[in-house]
Amino acid sequence: MEFRDLKRQYSYLKDEMDASMQKVLADANFIQGKQVAELEKALADYTGMKHCVACANGTDALQLALMAWQIGPGDAVFVPDFTFFSSGEVVSAVGAAPVFVDVDADTFNIDCASLAHMIEKTEAEGKWTPKAVVTVDLFGQPAEYEKIRLIAEKYHLLILEDAAQGFGGRIGEKRACSFGDIATTSFFPAKPLGCYGDGGAVFTDNDEWAELLKSYRVHGKGSSKYDNIRIGMNSRLDTLQAAVLLTKFPVFAKEELEREQEIAACYTEHLKDFVKTPVVRDGFYSSWAQYTIQLEDREERNGLQSYLKEQGIPSAVYYQKPMHRQQAFANMSYEDTEYPVTNRLSEIVLSLPFHPYMKEEEIALVADAIKQYVSR
Ligand SMILES: *Cc1c(COP(=O)(O)O)cnc(C)c1O
Repeated sequence: MEFRDLKRQYSYLKDEMDASMQKVLADANFIQGKQVAELEKALADYTGMKHCVACANGTDALQLALMAWQIGPGDAVFVPDFTFFSSGEVVSAVGAAPVFVDVDADTFNIDCASLAHMIEKTEAEGKWTPKAVVTVDLFGQPAEYEKIRLIAEKYHLLILEDAAQGFGGRIGEKRACSFGDIATTSFFPAKPLGCYGDGGAVFTDNDEWAELLKSYRVHGKGSSKYDNIRIGMNSRLDTLQAAVLLTKFPVFAKEELEREQEIAACYTEHLKDFVKTPVVRDGFYSSWAQYTIQLEDREERNGLQSYLKEQGIPSAVYYQKPMHRQQAFANMSYEDTEYPVTNRLSEIVLSLPFHPYMKEEEIALVADAIKQYVSR
């Protein structure tokens, strides 16, 4: 069994996929071919955003947003403590200070009380100026934007929505990548909408920021690539990856997301009396980047993971280490007691095999092994 079976997905799409990749090879328009603009238009329409700017990966997408906002030394950016490293890495990369915030034990997303507390604490210390909050739509579920928006308005913060795992999720009819002042996503192969390499995109309704993003994406270009008016990056999406995404996108939107809802419901039905299953808030829809259960303690989690491995069932721990404990931030002197929920989650979470091409027998096999282990 595979954790996320990309081969099965390819075999389902093969004829169409091969044709669209062959077309790029035949046209040899490898950089900024017309498929890139076509994809940007399709994704902007889908998310309801005015601009989509494709780029090289989800990490660059976040960094481009911070660059467009001119966030740098002296600024504080608030980031959930329980997330992939990129969400905080980019803040340090532009010279600003990442201030980590604890998360909600049910949704794994940023905890609004902890956010307000950390903003006030930062203001009181007076070392950095609060500028923005990176909200992460973790494991596919959008963060609580209604509450976050109120806090952002109160403290004059910009919202950067990191929807690397959230693309395809929504709150009511409003889709992920439309909640932030700028939003980003990743097309890393294992994300909800993945390509066949690295890829990413930035979304915004703001014309001025969109122009800046397009400039920073190509060496800070002015009127052309050889007229350089600011220091930027080289962060384009390959035409080949755009072609892959254009082929996958309709299937993702029409079939895969639906199928993932069924798979999550099936897992939950099997497991809800045995372990803590994922909580999706009323009116929220997850794109199920991960299906993550919680065990009693570290010993039970690690024991279950070993047991599953013996049965040939892969699983993963997202995330082993809270951000504030990463060595890369050792110079920052975070207080461990600010992060009780993240500290505990890192000991008890386990993500299960999950993808839209999973069969019912496979879900039952995983669920049965978990039931056996926890009832031992
Ligand atoms: C994967 C991921 C990223 C980074 O995306 P890449 O395309 O791998 O650079 C950023 N944030 C989160 C939450 C992610 O899961």
